[in-house]
Amino acid sequence: MKLFDVYPLFNIEPVKARGSWLWDKQGNKYLDLYGGHAVISIGHSHPHYVDALKNQLDKIGFYSNSVQNPLQEQLSEKLGEVSGYPDYQLFLCNSGAEANENALKLASFVNGRKKVIAFKKSFHGRTSGAVAATDNPKIVAPFNAGHQIEFLPLNDEAVFKEAINSDIAAVIIEGIQGVGGIQLPNDSFLQVISKKCKEVGALLILDEVQSGYGRTGKFFAHQFSGIKPDLITIAKGMGNGFPVGGVLIAPEIKPWSGMLGTTFGGNYLACIASLAVLEVIQNESLMNNATELGNYWIEKLKGFKTITQVRGRGLMIGFDLPESSSGLRTNLLQKHRVFTGEAKPNTVRLLPSLALKKEEADLLLNALAIELS
Ligand code: PLP
Repeated sequence: MKLFDVYPLFNIEPVKARGSWLWDKQGNKYLDLYGGHAVISIGHSHPHYVDALKNQLDKIGFYSNSVQNPLQEQLSEKLGEVSGYPDYQLFLCNSGAEANENALKLASFVNGRKKVIAFKKSFHGRTSGAVAATDNPKIVAPFNAGHQIEFLPLNDEAVFKEAINSDIAAVIIEGIQGVGGIQLPNDSFLQVISKKCKEVGALLILDEVQSGYGRTGKFFAHQFSGIKPDLITIAKGMGNGFPVGGVLIAPEIKPWSGMLGTTFGGNYLACIASLAVLEVIQNESLMNNATELGNYWIEKLKGFKTITQVRGRGLMIGFDLPESSSGLRTNLLQKHRVFTGEAKPNTVRLLPSLALKKEEADLLLNALAIELS
């Protein structure tokens, strides 16, 4: 059987990874400043994380959600504490798209409405509801056209106030748009959305799948604005590579038996991986590190004359290049062995491990100094 050929691949086969580094089959060493789409939050194969997973697998790897699993309680306790949402409830699933799908479903359960507001250049995942709330014509199939989603421009308060009304089930917005090119919602824009949603009884869903888990220097990107969403979706950095996702649910939303469900969500290995990630984030002060190194990079990147704009918070950074420098990412990979991400048409995305070291941050700056001189 052949693989269904949907991924453009680099001709690199990583066989080993530690911290911010990858090694390929030929023994070449690469600096990973992308973390496989912002997934590697505490560094590749962190010893605490590896031990936790090995020990758990030795005890029990899987059973269904029909039995007591104290690891789920431990994870929700810890997540409540580290995230600053101790009074919220946690529903565990397996990916970012699934988290958004469940959040959209929950909103509709709560207020019985069908319409959703999303934003231009948004990306929320590839399940039916999540993809319909994604503003990218290449990946939205005709099947999804039945969803009642309206896409508004980011940061346009007047347009938003015009569009929000008591027919709207939910507003879904990323903490920082990732795939859309590291676009930040203004704090004041989030405050307006939060206030208006409350007024009309729409639920506010904050998609923190990419921007959450300490990446911006706060646990969630929206926490810079002081708002409290009704639903917060998480995945990527949560498991540092182990597939896991979740929805944080405001205390006033009451569950009933069978309201949501999944076979794999909240399994022992996913819980232990997520717990180990939170422990490392706390014990190694990784959010402070993200703030410090993020500020350092942003300041230095702004010093390059060729770079036309730098955006981001903490270790979620995008910088724009003119068309003449469009080969930069390829050169960084092939000549300097540095992995970065991109957002079309001209943004380079940096999403390294939150445990990045200053010497590693400097390697990028040195490579840029050569390539952009
Ligand atoms: N939401 C955001 C903001 C994302 O960036 C992504 C993935 O890139 C998703 C949702 C979908 O996550 P997953 O690929 O785990 O389904």
